[in-house]
Amino acid sequence: MNTNQLLISFEFFPTKTPEGAVKLRAVRQQLYALKPEFCSVTFGAGGSTQAGTFAAVSEILAEGVDAASHLSCVGATKAIVRQQLATLQLMGVKRLVALRGDLPSGYGLGGEFQYASDLVEFIRTETDDAFHIEVAAYPEIHPQAKSADADLQAYVRKVKAGANATITQYFFNSDAYFRFVDDAAKLGADVPVVPGIMPITSSTQLMRFSDACGAEIPRWIRLRLQGFGDDVESIKSFGLDVIADLCEQLKNGGAPGIHFYTMNQSAATLELCKRLQQG
Ligand code: FAD
Repeated sequence: MNTNQLLISFEFFPTKTPEGAVKLRAVRQQLYALKPEFCSVTFGAGGSTQAGTFAAVSEILAEGVDAASHLSCVGATKAIVRQQLATLQLMGVKRLVALRGDLPSGYGLGGEFQYASDLVEFIRTETDDAFHIEVAAYPEIHPQAKSADADLQAYVRKVKAGANATITQYFFNSDAYFRFVDDAAKLGADVPVVPGIMPITSSTQLMRFSDACGAEIPRWIRLRLQGFGDDVESIKSFGLDVIADLCEQLKNGGAPGIHFYTMNQSAATLELCKRLQQG
Protein backbone atom coordinates (compact mmCIF):
# COMPACT_ATOMS: atom_id res chain seq x y z
CA MET A 1 0.00 0.00 0.00
CA ASN A 2 1.22 3.45 -0.78
CA THR A 3 0.77 5.30 2.50
CA ASN A 4 3.92 7.32 1.79
CA GLN A 5 6.14 4.23 1.48
CA LEU A 6 4.72 2.45 4.53
CA LEU A 7 4.41 -1.28 3.74
CA ILE A 8 1.20 -2.86 4.93
CA SER A 9 0.50 -6.52 5.66
CA PHE A 10 -2.52 -8.38 7.03
CA GLU A 11 -2.88 -11.38 9.28
CA PHE A 12 -5.76 -13.86 9.16
CA PHE A 13 -6.57 -17.03 11.04
CA PRO A 14 -7.85 -20.20 9.32
CA THR A 15 -11.60 -20.58 9.37
CA LYS A 16 -13.33 -23.68 10.72
CA THR A 17 -16.35 -23.89 8.40
CA PRO A 18 -17.01 -23.55 4.65
CA GLU A 19 -19.23 -20.50 5.41
CA GLY A 20 -16.35 -18.93 7.34
CA ALA A 21 -14.03 -19.51 4.38
CA VAL A 22 -16.49 -17.78 2.02
CA LYS A 23 -16.73 -14.77 4.36
CA LEU A 24 -12.96 -14.60 4.70
CA ARG A 25 -12.55 -14.59 0.91
CA ALA A 26 -14.78 -11.51 0.74
CA VAL A 27 -12.82 -9.82 3.56
CA ARG A 28 -9.55 -10.50 1.74
CA GLN A 29 -10.87 -9.03 -1.51
CA GLN A 30 -11.80 -5.82 0.30
CA LEU A 31 -8.37 -5.58 1.91
CA TYR A 32 -6.49 -6.34 -1.32
CA ALA A 33 -7.59 -2.92 -2.52
CA LEU A 34 -4.93 -1.60 -0.09
CA LYS A 35 -2.22 -3.51 -1.99
CA PRO A 36 -0.62 -5.37 0.92
CA GLU A 37 2.99 -6.47 0.69
CA PHE A 38 1.79 -9.88 1.89
CA CYS A 39 -0.94 -11.59 3.91
CA SER A 40 -0.14 -14.14 6.60
CA VAL A 41 -2.15 -17.00 8.10
CA THR A 42 -1.72 -18.20 11.68
CA PHE A 43 -0.87 -21.78 12.58
CA GLY A 44 -2.18 -23.68 15.60
CA ALA A 45 0.58 -24.95 17.86
CA GLY A 46 0.63 -28.72 17.88
CA GLY A 47 -0.32 -28.63 14.18
CA SER A 48 -4.02 -28.29 15.06
CA THR A 49 -4.81 -25.94 12.17
CA GLN A 50 -2.16 -27.04 9.69
CA ALA A 51 -4.56 -28.07 6.92
CA GLY A 52 -6.62 -24.88 7.29
CA THR A 53 -3.50 -22.71 7.39
CA PHE A 54 -2.01 -24.25 4.27
CA ALA A 55 -5.37 -24.12 2.42
CA ALA A 56 -5.78 -20.39 3.20
CA VAL A 57 -2.17 -19.68 2.19
CA SER A 58 -2.76 -21.49 -1.13
CA GLU A 59 -5.89 -19.44 -1.78
CA ILE A 60 -4.08 -16.17 -1.13
CA LEU A 61 -1.29 -17.13 -3.54
CA ALA A 62 -3.89 -18.12 -6.14
CA GLU A 63 -5.51 -14.70 -5.66
CA GLY A 64 -2.22 -13.15 -6.79
CA VAL A 65 -1.05 -11.88 -3.39
CA ASP A 66 2.15 -12.89 -1.61
CA ALA A 67 1.36 -15.14 1.35
CA ALA A 68 3.27 -16.03 4.50
CA SER A 69 2.51 -19.19 6.40
CA HIS A 70 3.02 -19.06 10.15
CA LEU A 71 4.80 -22.20 11.35
CA SER A 72 5.14 -23.12 15.00
CA CYS A 73 7.54 -25.73 16.34
CA VAL A 74 6.54 -26.49 19.92
CA GLY A 75 5.78 -30.21 20.28
CA ALA A 76 6.97 -30.93 16.70
CA THR A 77 9.69 -33.31 15.57
CA LYS A 78 12.30 -32.45 12.97
CA ALA A 79 10.74 -35.00 10.60
CA ILE A 80 7.37 -33.26 10.84
CA VAL A 81 8.81 -29.81 10.23
CA ARG A 82 10.91 -31.13 7.32
CA GLN A 83 7.71 -32.47 5.77
CA GLN A 84 5.88 -29.17 6.35
CA LEU A 85 8.70 -27.21 4.72
CA ALA A 86 8.64 -29.54 1.71
CA THR A 87 4.87 -29.08 1.37
CA LEU A 88 5.18 -25.30 1.62
CA GLN A 89 7.92 -25.26 -1.03
CA LEU A 90 5.76 -27.34 -3.37
CA MET A 91 2.93 -24.86 -2.82
CA GLY A 92 5.24 -22.04 -3.93
CA VAL A 93 5.35 -20.37 -0.50
CA LYS A 94 8.35 -18.08 -0.08
CA ARG A 95 7.60 -16.46 3.28
CA LEU A 96 7.30 -17.89 6.76
CA VAL A 97 6.56 -16.46 10.19
CA ALA A 98 8.60 -18.83 12.38
CA LEU A 99 7.36 -19.26 15.94
CA ARG A 100 7.68 -21.41 18.98
CA GLY A 101 3.93 -21.32 19.63
CA ASP A 102 2.02 -22.20 22.79
CA LEU A 103 0.74 -25.74 23.20
CA PRO A 104 -2.94 -25.96 24.14
CA SER A 105 -3.27 -27.33 27.69
CA GLY A 106 -3.46 -31.10 27.69
CA TYR A 107 -0.73 -31.49 25.06
CA GLY A 108 2.50 -33.01 26.28
CA LEU A 109 5.82 -31.46 25.33
CA GLY A 110 8.21 -33.97 23.83
CA GLY A 111 9.05 -32.10 20.63
CA GLU A 112 12.54 -31.58 19.26
CA PHE A 113 12.47 -27.77 19.30
CA GLN A 114 12.61 -25.65 22.42
CA TYR A 115 12.60 -22.11 21.07
CA ALA A 116 11.78 -20.27 17.86
CA SER A 117 15.53 -19.72 17.35
CA ASP A 118 15.88 -23.54 17.00
CA LEU A 119 13.22 -23.49 14.29
CA VAL A 120 14.85 -20.61 12.39
CA GLU A 121 18.19 -22.40 12.50
CA PHE A 122 16.58 -25.64 11.30
CA ILE A 123 14.78 -23.91 8.40
CA ARG A 124 18.04 -22.30 7.26
CA THR A 125 19.95 -25.59 7.52
CA GLU A 126 17.30 -27.53 5.64
CA THR A 127 16.24 -25.03 2.99
CA ASP A 128 19.00 -22.42 2.86
CA ASP A 129 17.50 -19.18 1.52
CA ALA A 130 14.29 -20.67 0.11
CA PHE A 131 12.19 -18.69 2.59
CA HIS A 132 12.05 -15.11 3.79
CA ILE A 133 11.70 -15.66 7.55
CA GLU A 134 9.91 -13.33 9.96
CA VAL A 135 10.06 -13.86 13.71
CA ALA A 136 8.01 -12.48 16.60
CA ALA A 137 9.11 -9.72 18.99
CA TYR A 138 7.63 -8.42 22.22
CA PRO A 139 8.27 -4.71 22.89
CA GLU A 140 6.46 -5.14 26.23
CA ILE A 141 8.33 -8.39 27.05
CA HIS A 142 7.12 -11.94 26.40
CA PRO A 143 4.99 -13.10 29.38
CA GLN A 144 7.19 -16.15 30.08
CA ALA A 145 10.54 -14.36 29.86
CA LYS A 146 12.85 -14.65 32.87
CA SER A 147 13.65 -10.94 32.60
CA ALA A 148 13.45 -8.09 30.10
CA ASP A 149 17.12 -8.53 29.30
CA ALA A 150 16.82 -12.30 28.84
CA ASP A 151 13.94 -11.72 26.43
CA LEU A 152 15.94 -9.21 24.41
CA GLN A 153 18.92 -11.59 24.27
CA ALA A 154 16.59 -14.41 23.14
CA TYR A 155 15.22 -12.16 20.41
CA VAL A 156 18.72 -11.25 19.21
CA ARG A 157 19.63 -14.95 19.08
CA LYS A 158 16.55 -15.59 16.97
CA VAL A 159 17.49 -12.88 14.48
CA LYS A 160 21.08 -14.05 14.31
CA ALA A 161 19.86 -17.60 13.61
CA GLY A 162 18.72 -16.27 10.23
CA ALA A 163 15.55 -14.16 10.43
CA ASN A 164 15.06 -11.50 7.75
CA ALA A 165 12.51 -9.36 9.57
CA THR A 166 10.31 -9.16 12.64
CA ILE A 167 6.66 -8.61 13.46
CA THR A 168 5.82 -7.44 16.96
CA GLN A 169 3.12 -8.43 19.37
CA TYR A 170 0.56 -5.63 19.50
CA PHE A 171 1.01 -2.78 21.94
CA PHE A 172 -0.59 0.60 22.64
CA ASN A 173 2.49 2.51 23.72
CA SER A 174 4.79 3.48 20.86
CA ASP A 175 7.67 4.24 23.28
CA ALA A 176 7.94 0.52 24.04
CA TYR A 177 8.32 -0.17 20.30
CA PHE A 178 10.93 2.49 19.58
CA ARG A 179 12.94 1.54 22.69
CA PHE A 180 12.87 -2.13 21.63
CA VAL A 181 14.05 -1.33 18.09
CA ASP A 182 16.95 0.76 19.43
CA ASP A 183 18.01 -1.80 22.05
CA ALA A 184 17.91 -4.68 19.56
CA ALA A 185 19.92 -2.72 16.97
CA LYS A 186 22.59 -1.94 19.60
CA LEU A 187 23.01 -5.70 20.06
CA GLY A 188 23.42 -6.23 16.32
CA ALA A 189 19.85 -7.32 15.52
CA ASP A 190 18.96 -4.65 13.02
CA VAL A 191 16.46 -6.34 10.70
CA PRO A 192 13.24 -4.40 9.97
CA VAL A 193 10.87 -4.56 12.96
CA VAL A 194 7.29 -4.15 11.77
CA PRO A 195 4.82 -3.20 14.50
CA GLY A 196 1.83 -5.51 14.82
CA ILE A 197 -1.35 -3.49 15.28
CA MET A 198 -4.59 -4.78 16.78
CA PRO A 199 -7.63 -2.68 15.86
CA ILE A 200 -9.94 -2.17 18.86
CA THR A 201 -13.44 -3.37 17.99
CA SER A 202 -14.59 -5.13 21.16
CA SER A 203 -13.50 -4.50 24.73
CA THR A 204 -14.10 -7.99 26.12
CA GLN A 205 -12.13 -9.60 23.30
CA LEU A 206 -9.30 -7.11 23.68
CA MET A 207 -9.04 -7.60 27.48
CA ARG A 208 -9.03 -11.40 27.07
CA PHE A 209 -6.30 -11.41 24.40
CA SER A 210 -4.17 -8.83 26.14
CA ASP A 211 -4.20 -10.71 29.45
CA ALA A 212 -3.10 -13.87 27.63
CA CYS A 213 -0.30 -12.37 25.53
CA GLY A 214 1.08 -9.80 27.95
CA ALA A 215 0.12 -6.70 25.94
CA GLU A 216 -0.52 -3.85 28.34
CA ILE A 217 -3.73 -1.89 27.93
CA PRO A 218 -3.01 1.55 29.41
CA ARG A 219 -5.27 2.33 32.37
CA TRP A 220 -6.95 5.25 30.62
CA ILE A 221 -7.86 3.09 27.60
CA ARG A 222 -9.16 0.29 29.83
CA LEU A 223 -11.30 2.72 31.85
CA ARG A 224 -12.67 4.47 28.77
CA LEU A 225 -13.59 1.11 27.23
CA GLN A 226 -15.26 -0.03 30.44
CA GLY A 227 -17.20 3.24 30.51
CA PHE A 228 -18.74 2.48 27.11
CA GLY A 229 -20.35 -0.72 28.47
CA ASP A 230 -22.26 -2.44 25.62
CA ASP A 231 -22.19 0.61 23.37
CA VAL A 232 -20.36 -1.05 20.47
CA GLU A 233 -20.45 2.01 18.20
CA SER A 234 -18.69 4.17 20.81
CA ILE A 235 -16.10 1.46 21.43
CA LYS A 236 -15.38 1.22 17.70
CA SER A 237 -15.18 4.97 17.22
CA PHE A 238 -12.88 5.45 20.25
CA GLY A 239 -10.80 2.44 19.15
CA LEU A 240 -10.31 3.89 15.66
CA ASP A 241 -9.14 7.23 17.08
CA VAL A 242 -6.67 5.61 19.51
CA ILE A 243 -5.21 3.18 16.97
CA ALA A 244 -5.08 5.76 14.17
CA ASP A 245 -2.99 7.99 16.48
CA LEU A 246 -0.72 5.07 17.30
CA CYS A 247 -0.23 4.25 13.59
CA GLU A 248 0.57 7.90 12.89
CA GLN A 249 3.21 7.97 15.66
CA LEU A 250 4.76 4.78 14.30
CA LYS A 251 4.80 6.08 10.74
CA ASN A 252 6.28 9.43 11.77
CA GLY A 253 8.89 7.69 13.93
CA GLY A 254 10.14 5.63 10.98
CA ALA A 255 8.48 2.22 11.39
CA PRO A 256 9.12 0.26 8.17
CA GLY A 257 5.53 -0.94 7.85
CA ILE A 258 2.44 -1.97 9.75
CA HIS A 259 1.13 -5.50 10.17
CA PHE A 260 -2.58 -5.55 10.99
CA TYR A 261 -4.08 -8.32 13.12
CA THR A 262 -7.32 -8.18 11.14
CA MET A 263 -9.18 -10.81 13.19
CA ASN A 264 -10.68 -11.79 9.80
CA GLN A 265 -12.60 -8.48 9.63
CA SER A 266 -12.03 -5.68 7.14
CA ALA A 267 -13.88 -2.57 8.38
CA ALA A 268 -11.50 -1.30 11.09
CA THR A 269 -8.36 -2.05 9.09
CA LEU A 270 -9.78 -0.32 6.00
CA GLU A 271 -10.65 2.78 8.02
CA LEU A 272 -7.25 2.87 9.75
CA CYS A 273 -5.43 2.64 6.42
CA LYS A 274 -7.65 5.38 4.99
CA ARG A 275 -6.71 7.67 7.89
CA LEU A 276 -3.03 6.77 7.47
CA GLN A 277 -3.20 7.80 3.82
CA GLN A 278 -4.80 11.10 4.77
CA GLY A 279 -2.33 11.76 7.62
P1 FAD B 1 10.47 -17.72 21.41
O1 FAD B 1 11.18 -16.68 20.65
O2 FAD B 1 11.05 -19.09 21.43
O3 FAD B 1 10.34 -17.20 22.93
C1 FAD B 1 9.51 -17.87 23.85
C2 FAD B 1 10.00 -17.58 25.27
O4 FAD B 1 11.23 -18.25 25.50
C3 FAD B 1 10.26 -16.10 25.57
O5 FAD B 1 9.89 -15.87 26.90
C4 FAD B 1 11.76 -15.97 25.40
O6 FAD B 1 12.31 -14.94 26.21
C5 FAD B 1 12.24 -17.33 25.87
N1 FAD B 1 13.47 -17.78 25.20
C6 FAD B 1 13.71 -17.85 23.89
N2 FAD B 1 14.92 -18.37 23.64
C7 FAD B 1 15.48 -18.63 24.84
C8 FAD B 1 16.72 -19.20 25.27
N3 FAD B 1 17.64 -19.60 24.39
N4 FAD B 1 16.94 -19.33 26.61
C9 FAD B 1 16.00 -18.94 27.51
N5 FAD B 1 14.80 -18.41 27.16
C10 FAD B 1 14.55 -18.26 25.84
N6 FAD B 1 1.20 -18.53 18.12
C11 FAD B 1 0.71 -19.59 17.45
O7 FAD B 1 0.48 -20.64 18.06
N7 FAD B 1 0.44 -19.55 16.10
C12 FAD B 1 0.69 -18.43 15.37
O8 FAD B 1 0.45 -18.42 14.16
C13 FAD B 1 1.24 -17.29 16.04
N8 FAD B 1 1.56 -16.17 15.35
C14 FAD B 1 2.17 -15.12 15.99
C15 FAD B 1 2.57 -14.01 15.24
C16 FAD B 1 3.20 -12.94 15.86
C17 FAD B 1 3.65 -11.76 15.03
C18 FAD B 1 3.40 -12.95 17.28
C19 FAD B 1 4.04 -11.77 17.97
C20 FAD B 1 3.01 -14.05 18.03
C21 FAD B 1 2.40 -15.16 17.39
N9 FAD B 1 2.03 -16.30 18.11
C22 FAD B 1 1.48 -17.38 17.44
C23 FAD B 1 2.21 -16.36 19.56
C24 FAD B 1 3.55 -17.04 19.94
O9 FAD B 1 3.58 -18.36 19.47
C25 FAD B 1 3.69 -17.00 21.46
O10 FAD B 1 3.88 -15.68 21.90
C26 FAD B 1 4.75 -17.93 22.04
O11 FAD B 1 4.57 -17.94 23.46
C27 FAD B 1 6.18 -17.49 21.79
O12 FAD B 1 6.56 -17.71 20.51
P2 FAD B 1 7.97 -17.12 19.98
O13 FAD B 1 8.13 -17.60 18.62
O14 FAD B 1 8.04 -15.67 20.22
O15 FAD B 1 8.96 -17.89 20.99
